[in-house]
Amino acid sequence: MNAKEHVKQVFEQVIKRNPNEPEFHQAVKEVLDSLVPVLERRPEYIEAGIVERIVEPERQIIFRVPWVDDNGKVHVNRGFRVQFNSAIGPYKGGLRFHPSVNLGIIKFLGFEQIFKNSLTGLPIGGGKGGSDFDPKGKSDAEIMRFCQSFMTELYRHIGPDIDVPAGDIGVGAREIGYLYGMYKKITGAYEAGVLTGKGLTYGGSLVRKEATGYGLVYFVEEMLNAKGLSFKDKVVVISGSGNVAIYAAEKAMQLGAKVVAMSDSNGYVYDKDGIKLDTIKQIKEVERKRISEYVKYHPNAEYHEGCKNIWNIKCDIALPCATQNEIDAEAANTLVKNGVIAVGEGANMPSTLEATEIFLNNKVLFAPAKAANAGGVATSALEMSQNSLRMSWTFEEVDQKLHNIMVNIYKNASKIAEEYGYKDNLVVGANIAGFIKVADAMLAQGIV
Ligand code: NDP
Repeated sequence: MNAKEHVKQVFEQVIKRNPNEPEFHQAVKEVLDSLVPVLERRPEYIEAGIVERIVEPERQIIFRVPWVDDNGKVHVNRGFRVQFNSAIGPYKGGLRFHPSVNLGIIKFLGFEQIFKNSLTGLPIGGGKGGSDFDPKGKSDAEIMRFCQSFMTELYRHIGPDIDVPAGDIGVGAREIGYLYGMYKKITGAYEAGVLTGKGLTYGGSLVRKEATGYGLVYFVEEMLNAKGLSFKDKVVVISGSGNVAIYAAEKAMQLGAKVVAMSDSNGYVYDKDGIKLDTIKQIKEVERKRISEYVKYHPNAEYHEGCKNIWNIKCDIALPCATQNEIDAEAANTLVKNGVIAVGEGANMPSTLEATEIFLNNKVLFAPAKAANAGGVATSALEMSQNSLRMSWTFEEVDQKLHNIMVNIYKNASKIAEEYGYKDNLVVGANIAGFIKVADAMLAQGIV
């Protein structure tokens, strides 16, 4: 069967078998469309059913998470862990706590994670998990009880050589601490390598907190450098004000850019003189409040209700770092009309398929999430290495390794794109580069 027909049939089967999961369909479509030229060159992948197998998770776990709030009321949330692919290493991927979480969202994230983890060059498979729990407005004690309840089921499915979760939206150092504490209590073992993103006093790695944001900017800088450009003196708009957004802003500023806008799920702030990042950190990391507070500290800045219009601000570089599908065709067209040079995806799948097409067709330098935001998971793998070695590397050592990994991912993706006749198309380059390593491992390991 020819490659195009094969991919079409597999995709039809994915839609039939996974109804009502539009985000998962979208993530699969983007990857499968890129694979046709690889399958034409490597028909053995078709014969071994690699594509049919790679779109089907190895295991999907769904569980009840009951917990009691501060007023004694009982709540029941749903927990998920999708163990997608373990061909090149133990499952690895974050946990997301957000009311929008459902099986389809976790599957899209887990599927993306397979290729992202492969691109890092490190031995980690793909997985993802989370819950429809909403951490907003919950007390510390409620967060702790929820995390403990979540772990009383999750613990039986994870382990340093089995599956190693980390953070994602709604799961930061505080939640990882509570999750790790409960894992340790249940198992009676100090297995630091079972979770990453841990605090520095109990097995965490320096630079893990900064890694996704820094890595994104290292990747985009490399992409700009290849065209004789850089972050220096560029106007940058960043959506989100969470872990990824804050450290992307920090590194972009260190490289001489001016970040003029950031957002949260309620709205965005525009500060034409440049966002003061210390204020954002205070509001978001310490006080856990809304970004609208920013204008109380800086009355010259503007706050706008609604987060989507952030893309109407004229900028040279756009870094979407909030959530999936936050840039649609309309936002992409506005960015292009306003002269955007580069778009770097910090969030997972922040651009719709149509928006991605618009960027590529208009020669915008486009850094896709799987490649550009892989710095977080790469540094998680470095945290696992340090846990195994029972050693801690310095900030500079980890940062240098992260930088090298991001440069290599860029080089690898752009070289493969060119080899397959898609020069400058890093979407295709990242998908193919990530796929080949996993596919070869699956081929070698037989039909399992
Ligand atoms: P955080 O929870 O730290 O921050 C998320 C930010 O995005 C917050 O500002 C949040 O606003 C905003 N946001 C979340 N959901 C929505 C929504 N539906 N609409 C608008 N804004 C929203 O998460 P992270 O920074 O860790 O993650 C951000 C993105 O980066 C996600 O796509 C994640 O999958 C991806 N990513 C994260 C990695 C990591 O290491 N943390 C690694 C690789 C990718 P509010 O405060 O109002 O909720």
